[in-house]
Amino acid sequence: MVIGGSLTGLSTAHHAARKGAHVVLVEKDKVGSGASGRNGSMCTQGITISPAEARKRYGQPRARELYDAFREAVDLVEELTVKEQIDCDFHRVGRLGVAFKPQHFESMRAKQRDLADNFGHDTTLLSKSDLRAELGSD
Ligand SMILES: Cc1cc2nc3c(=O)[nH]c(=O)nc-3n(C[C@H](O)[C@H](O)[C@H](O)COP(=O)(O)OP(=O)(O)OC[C@H]3O[C@@H](n4cnc5c(N)ncnc54)[C@H](O)[C@@H]3O)c2cc1C
Repeated sequence: MVIGGSLTGLSTAHHAARKGAHVVLVEKDKVGSGASGRNGSMCTQGITISPAEARKRYGQPRARELYDAFREAVDLVEELTVKEQIDCDFHRVGRLGVAFKPQHFESMRAKQRDLADNFGHDTTLLSKSDLRAELGSD
C-alpha cells in the first residue's frame, strides 16, 4: 500500500507495479493535491548548495553522488514522460544562473571549473552580450 497520491507516492506505486507488485494507492484528497500540484514545475539538475559547500559537508565522493543522482532524476522524468506518454509539456530548456555583481561572475567561473573537473558536469559561461542574446534583456 502506498499512502499519498502525489509525485512521491505515484512514482513509488508506478515503479512497484511495473515490477509486478499489486499496489493500492491511498490518497486522502485529489491526486496531485499536495505540493506536487502547486509547485514551480522546474525539473532541474544540481543541488541548492554550491559544489564546494557540498564537498565540505559530505566529502567529494558523496557530493558527486548527489550531483549524479540529480542528473539521473531528470533523465528518469524524461524517460517516464516518453514511455508512459504523459502529457506534461516536458522540455529541456537548460537552467540559467545570473551574476548581478562582477565578483559573482568570478565565483561562477570557479564553480564552472569545479563542476567540470570534479562533477563531470558541463556548463557554459555566458558573457554579458551572450546573456542579452539569451534573455533579450540586460
Ligand atoms: C511553492 C512550491 C514550489 C515548488 N517548486 C518546485 C519546483 O519548481 N521543482 C521541484 O522539483 N520541486 C518544487 N517544489 C517541491 C516539490 O513540489 C515537492 O518536493 C514534491 O511535490 C513533494 O511531493 P510528495 O509527493 O512527496 O508530496 P505532496 O506533493 O505534498 O503529496 C503528498 C500527498 O499525500 C497526501 N496525503 C497526506 N496525508 C495523507 C494521508 N494520511 N492519507 C492519504 N493521503 C495523504 C496529500 O493529499 C498529497 O496528495 C515546490 C514546492 C512548493 C511548495
